[in-house]
Amino acid sequence: LLKLESKYHSDSPDLPQSQEIFYSSLTNIFEKLEQEPARLKNLAIASEFFLQILRSNHKRTLVEVIYLMINRLGPDYELDLELGLGETLLVKAIAEGTGRTPQRIRSELHKLGDIGLVAQNSRSRQPTMFKSKPLTIHSVFENLTKIAKSSGNASQARKIGLINQMLTTCEGSEAKFLMRSLEGKLRINFGEKSVLVALSKAFSEYEHELSSKKGHVSPQELVDAEEAIKKAFSQIPNYEIIVDEALKYGISNLATHCTLKPGIPLKPMLAKPTKSITEVLDHFHGQEFTCEYKYDGERAQLHVQEDGTVKIYSRNSEDMSQRYPDLIDVVSQIKTQCNGVITLILDCECVAWDGEKGKILPFQVLSTRKRKDVNAKDIKVQVCLFAFDILFLNGKSLLELPLKERRKILHENVKPIEGKFQFAEAMDADNVAEIQHFLDQSVKDSCEGLMVKMLDGDKSHYEPSKRSVNWLKLKKDYLEGVGDSLDLAVVGGYIGKGKRTGWYGGFLLACYNEDSGEYETCCKIGTGFSEEMLQTLSGTLKPTVIQQPKPFYVYDASPDVWFEPTLVFEVLTADLSLSPVYKAGINFFGKGVSLRFPRFIRVRDDKSPEQATSSDQIVELYQKQAHV
Ligand code: ATP
Repeated sequence: LLKLESKYHSDSPDLPQSQEIFYSSLTNIFEKLEQEPARLKNLAIASEFFLQILRSNHKRTLVEVIYLMINRLGPDYELDLELGLGETLLVKAIAEGTGRTPQRIRSELHKLGDIGLVAQNSRSRQPTMFKSKPLTIHSVFENLTKIAKSSGNASQARKIGLINQMLTTCEGSEAKFLMRSLEGKLRINFGEKSVLVALSKAFSEYEHELSSKKGHVSPQELVDAEEAIKKAFSQIPNYEIIVDEALKYGISNLATHCTLKPGIPLKPMLAKPTKSITEVLDHFHGQEFTCEYKYDGERAQLHVQEDGTVKIYSRNSEDMSQRYPDLIDVVSQIKTQCNGVITLILDCECVAWDGEKGKILPFQVLSTRKRKDVNAKDIKVQVCLFAFDILFLNGKSLLELPLKERRKILHENVKPIEGKFQFAEAMDADNVAEIQHFLDQSVKDSCEGLMVKMLDGDKSHYEPSKRSVNWLKLKKDYLEGVGDSLDLAVVGGYIGKGKRTGWYGGFLLACYNEDSGEYETCCKIGTGFSEEMLQTLSGTLKPTVIQQPKPFYVYDASPDVWFEPTLVFEVLTADLSLSPVYKAGINFFGKGVSLRFPRFIRVRDDKSPEQATSSDQIVELYQKQAHV
């Protein structure tokens, strides 16, 4: 084994040993991924690159490469690691770095629609006096991190300085990918899901080589490795820890070593939509299930760490602790009241609360709360946490326990505080009349409907990151349609006419393809907006207008303007149909699926465009509807 290791670490064919790995080796891979449409080939390209890095023992570089590939600089829950710089700043940086005028750069950008290509072209026109030291993956990663963290008055100049420093050293396609990374949209045709699969393959092959096994890794080993890494990642979404533990214990043992840890938010379990109570009953036939109120607020994952630190994370694993200082106080209070509780993770919904009347307020009230610089003294909208699950208690993960037991543990160990922290209202019914009554009751109590969950047995375990059939959502308002609303990215706009003159009167919406990272257009929407809303939306969207559709938009429609993907609309639809114009799920059916009679409900500002409803979800909804 040692011999093999030293062989790799001394003469790996493709990567340097003693010095840092050049950024160009990564951008060459990006270029290949961008050009290659076939997913399997892309997986092979990426996993081969990961394997080379593993062989050359560059653990830190491997972690940096993974983050650069998914266009992040660290785990979701760490603050201030977002890229996504605005066009103005990037144009300015290219102008300063290459001596071209901002006007020329803008006009080229309007033609090409890709800031990366513009930067690459600008660099190639520049005469190079002398050759500077090439960029390394590490130096780029460090500079990007400095840029993301840079804030305050002089931050713009600091950012431009750092960009220029890198830009002047860029060769070949380095400038293109550097700029795209800064813009926050790498578009290499390779999403995070694929990164995990490629990584599992690389680790399997690496271990196979180290153990001197003959032949190839078996397909079953590859499947097991993929399962193991996905499971580990759903509980510990931190690539540094995953890579560390995989190197220490082997990929097959990863899932036993990467388990829940207070302070690291796990990926939440999600629900599937249903259209009727009878569908629910058919689904759970003969099995124990429970109905809970589906509160209409914001998901809150609450963590109490061993040293007493309390953290609250969003559905997307963002740290919301600073946004909810009032909740941090409540949780600290709970901890003091519940003697035996040392470490804890709870799954809850945070809802706006009318303290005087003792009742839930609609989601719209919650959304008026300030999101930044929240001072506990100035909070106007009170909130109450409704806990519906316990995932971890005093050093032990409870994920594998049936919901029935988890619920018992929750009720026995944690004490509610009226109007601040309560348990989700639940009822274990098994007939249409009782469920209908509970559903009506939930709506009267300002909830969206019910969550119906498997209560006992294997299938009632908590499944991190899965949209599971063991959790069904029954939303009162959507029983007539496809069973749920869709959350879609706004990619285009139509100029308003008549009363809507001066604003956008309609929008082109798209779902997100998680495999390819593309936005597949799926409808034009013009219904459900108040005039005031259209005015606000126009103000928000105008600065995001781009001259060309992004290369990662899949479309046939021709809106009056195109937008950067920044906003997500929640939308209701009568049903789904195959369309000659729209493209959702095009790879699946050869034709796209589109929404019929879409109606705007609200802006989902808790979701980023990449968290829009996925193409797979739309395909599934369409198939279910066609089946019915
Ligand atoms: P998605 O559409 O991706 O599932 P979403 O954020 O739009 O996510 P819904 O589908 O509407 O959410 O429903 C699931 C959400 O309902 C959960 O993420 C959680 O925030 C909320 N919720 C409210 N009450 C409960 C409950 N009792 N159990 C589980 N989730 C609940």
